Amino acid sequence: MTTPYAEVIGDPIGHSKSPLIHKFWLEKCGIAGDYRASHVRPDDLPDFIAQRRNDPDWRGCNVTIPHKIAVMDLVDDPGDVRGTIGAMNTVLRDPQSNLTGTNTDAAGFYAPLSTLDLTGASVAVVGTGGAARAVLFALGKANVGDMCIVARSPLKGAALLAQFGLRGAVQGLDASLPPVRLLVNATSLGMVGQAPYAPDLSPLPDGAVVYDLVYAPLETPLLAAAHDNGFDTIDGLEMLIGQAAFAFELFFGKAAPREHDDELRALLTA
Ligand code: NAP
Repeated sequence: MTTPYAEVIGDPIGHSKSPLIHKFWLEKCGIAGDYRASHVRPDDLPDFIAQRRNDPDWRGCNVTIPHKIAVMDLVDDPGDVRGTIGAMNTVLRDPQSNLTGTNTDAAGFYAPLSTLDLTGASVAVVGTGGAARAVLFALGKANVGDMCIVARSPLKGAALLAQFGLRGAVQGLDASLPPVRLLVNATSLGMVGQAPYAPDLSPLPDGAVVYDLVYAPLETPLLAAAHDNGFDTIDGLEMLIGQAAFAFELFFGKAAPREHDDELRALLTA
C-alpha cells in the first residue's frame, strides 16, 4: 500500500514549521499520510518538480523562499496568482499528473479578521515584500477604506497601491501613524535578531486592532506595546496556521481540525 504525502520545499528548509503543523493534523484526523521538508536548491527546482509530477503518491507541496516566483513557470495552471499576489506558495497534483498552483497566504492572513467588518475602515500596512502583497490582496477584497502603506521605499509602496487598486498614501517608517482601525506589520522588523518595529501607537483609536505577521517571537515589541495600550492583537501564528489549514484541505481532502489550535500553538511555541 502506498502513502500519500505532501511536503514543503525551500532553500534553506530546516527552520520550517510546516511539517509540525501538517503532521499534527494528519494524526488528529487519522489520515495515513505524511508531510515532509525537502531541501531543494534553485538549480534543482525544475527537475524536482518534474520528478514529483510523476509520483502518484505526491499530493503537492508548499513552497517557500526562494522558489515562490520560479515555481509559477513550472505548473500547468498558475491561476491568477501571477497577476495578483505575484508569488505561489502551494502546488497541487491531480490524478492525471496536472499541476495547479495557488497562494494560501492571503486567505490565511484574512481568516482571523473575518469576524470584523472592515468595509470602509482605514488600514495601515507596514512593508512592501511578499507577505505585504498577500495582505494587500486580501484587504483589497475586503473593501477597506483609506490605505496607508508604511515603507522605507516610497516608490515600492506607491506601486503596490496602484497594483492592488487601493486608495491611500505612502509614508516612511518614522512618520506618525494615521488613526487607523487596523495596523499590520508585514516586515521582518521585530523578528528574533532584527530591530523592533516600535511606532508611537497613540494616534490609533479605541478598538483598533494590531496584527503582526512575525511569529518568532510570538509577542513582538509591537504586540507588547499594543497590549499595553489596550488594543486587540493578532499574532503571526494565526496566519501561519491559517495558510497551512487551506493547504492541508487541498492536499488531503479534509478540513484541518482547528478545534485543536490551542494544543497546536503550544507545540509550535515549545
Ligand atoms: P520579504 O519579501 O523579504 O519582505 C520583507 C519586508 O520587510 C520588505 O518590505 C522590507 O523592506 C522590510 N524590511 C526588512 N528589513 C527592514 C528594515 N530594517 N527596515 C524597514 N523595513 C525592512 O519577506 P516577507 O516574506 O514579506 O516576510 C516579511 C515578514 O513576514 C517576515 O518576518 C516573515 O517571517 C513574516 N511572514 C509571516 C507569515 C505568517 O504566516 N505569519 C507569512 C509570511 C511572512 P524593503 O522592501 O524596503 O526591502
